[in-house]
Amino acid sequence: MSQFWSPIVSQLKPYIPGEQPRIDQLVKLNTNENPYGPSPNAIAVMRDMVNDNLRLYPDPHSSAFAQAVAKRHGVALDHVFVGNGSDEVLAHVFMALLNTGKPLQMPDITYSFYPSYCLLYGIRHDAIPLNARYEIDLNDYRADAGPIIFANPNAPTGHLLGPEAIEKLVKRVPNQLVVVDEAYIDFGGKSAVPLTKQYRNLLVVQTLSKSRSLAGLRVGYAIGHPELIEGLERVKNSFNSYPLGRVAQAGAAAAFEDDNWFRTTREKIMNSRHDLIQALEKRGFEVLPSYANFVFARHTSRDGAELAQALRERAVLVRHFKLPRIEQFLRISIGTEAQCAAFVKALDAILGR
Ligand SMILES: *Cc1c(COP(=O)(O)O)cnc(C)c1O
Repeated sequence: MSQFWSPIVSQLKPYIPGEQPRIDQLVKLNTNENPYGPSPNAIAVMRDMVNDNLRLYPDPHSSAFAQAVAKRHGVALDHVFVGNGSDEVLAHVFMALLNTGKPLQMPDITYSFYPSYCLLYGIRHDAIPLNARYEIDLNDYRADAGPIIFANPNAPTGHLLGPEAIEKLVKRVPNQLVVVDEAYIDFGGKSAVPLTKQYRNLLVVQTLSKSRSLAGLRVGYAIGHPELIEGLERVKNSFNSYPLGRVAQAGAAAAFEDDNWFRTTREKIMNSRHDLIQALEKRGFEVLPSYANFVFARHTSRDGAELAQALRERAVLVRHFKLPRIEQFLRISIGTEAQCAAFVKALDAILGR
């Protein structure tokens, strides 16, 4: 607390990211990073970009990358907004499009950054409870009320909704914006992006941090009707004209073009997810069905916080949220096969198997 803080600062509850400690031989399964690393082509392109041209400002529109996004998703360029990680894209979405005066509707258990943005921008929100199976039920979201945001697959549950359910919602609430955060959609889900061509009240946000393994580069984007994109551009250009540097723009575009790398690495992750779920179930865990690069699981008799701590003592990090309804769960990111095996080995030691 400082006398120099603006009044709002003391009221903020900043998002707390998973820790990034420096421990030798750490098995790091706590922040949903992709264990396989980015496309080697993208790395080569980025190396080439580190040269004298860095004295110049980058393209403020990230045009080459935005074009790659438009091409991949089959939309026009004016349907694409690019930002410094999807966290920044979401920040602009909250400010430009979700601050309507009506309470924002979101799941009670979802990406915990959303409530932080609400405090930052003074947006009220209603937390709509997940059902007893920890699923989002879109029938619970009200028409003639505030806008709607959720992650699909949801975080940290991994639950997936299909495009049919999302289409039904956007049809039912034509005067409310629906924002779908698809950070994990590439691990087995079907994107709602095609629906954005038909419904002007739908905005889809994606990131290169998870399926493209570029969390360290900070690149995300949103796709929607040009009027929505223009609103985002107005906020962005009042905040930072150059959210992506030259290296990031080139690397992101190259990563998008390396479809082979994208496909093989995400297949590996989906296969490891399948094996990890079986290993956990064998050891007395209840595992929620997951379409993300993590699983969300609770042990039938052992305490979640204690398990997370015991794993930590064996240099295995998983994420534990001390929150109502989910405090018995562990969120375990899918690592390489070796990392998954190390996790299971540590678990066996803890469970005395
Ligand atoms: C990881 C994640 C993000 C943030 O991604 P960045 O692009 O790295 O900022 C956004 N939403 C959800 C649900 C996430 O899990």
